[in-house]
Amino acid sequence: MLLVQQGQPLVEATLPDPEPKPGQLLLKVRACAVCRTDLHLRDTEIEATKLPVVLGHQIVGITEDDRRVGVPWLGWTDGDCRYCRTERENLCLHAQFTGRDIDGGYAELTVADERFCFPIPSELSDAQAAPLLCGGLIGFRALRLAGSAPRLGLYGFGSAAHQICQVAVYEGRQVYAFTRPGDEETQAFARTLGAVWAGGSDERPPEELDAAIIFASAGELVPAALKALARAGRVVCAGIHMSDIPSFPYDDLWEERMIRSVANLTRRDGHEFLALAPKVPVRTTVTTYPLERAEDALADLRAGAFEGSAVILPR
Ligand SMILES: [Zn+2]
Ligand SMILES: [Zn+2]
Repeated sequence: MLLVQQGQPLVEATLPDPEPKPGQLLLKVRACAVCRTDLHLRDTEIEATKLPVVLGHQIVGITEDDRRVGVPWLGWTDGDCRYCRTERENLCLHAQFTGRDIDGGYAELTVADERFCFPIPSELSDAQAAPLLCGGLIGFRALRLAGSAPRLGLYGFGSAAHQICQVAVYEGRQVYAFTRPGDEETQAFARTLGAVWAGGSDERPPEELDAAIIFASAGELVPAALKALARAGRVVCAGIHMSDIPSFPYDDLWEERMIRSVANLTRRDGHEFLALAPKVPVRTTVTTYPLERAEDALADLRAGAFEGSAVILPR
């Protein structure tokens, strides 16, 4: 399923089989989870670097020698820039990302640089494992950047938050889940995963938060989350795109409150999260779509029509 032009529906297409270059694996795609970044590319909210492109960067695939591997968003780095040399390959100046710069997993076959692939925990099915590869592991990076934070807010309770809620509860934190105002179904879903409180993003939690992770792309959530923080609390913005952040009084940032973003992942984040996930254990709630319905999966994500994660299954 090809993104030929941004702002237009994906198009079914038959492409020549991809040919692996040295160091690349040829993969049969077993499952590819849908990320909000795919929707941002589809909807022109972030720039496409290559068109046409096969979207999808949460791929569970089978190698030619029958190993099951996961392909994440970080597809290639130069290994040589000042960020790569200081263990910050997530910020690599020449990074290439799966499903944007490199054709991704909305397909039956794909290729991926073996150095950036992860082994997949055997406990999880293909469809259950796929959402770990971006929602889970970039969510996990955001959780680490939130610090020890015993009282943690999650704004936007979708694929990433429903996984990170389980990790945070496993770590003994109290989770406060914020959804679109009036979305009682998602609030109930959050409580089933261990959230001690769930409400609308226009509500104030019953306790001050030590940190808040914002997974939604609405900039007005930043000052709202700041107002919910205790002293020295942190707001962590975990998405690749956000609408403009409205201005707010300096008083809301005073007392060492902090706002930061999270960009991409390092391979270390991936290995740490995929080792932790089976211990929690992280259980993903998934809605599956056949490959030819990838556009419907994106539409349902845009509309908030399912809980948890959407996963595309090629035949
Ligand atoms: Zn680099
Ligand atoms: Zn993603």
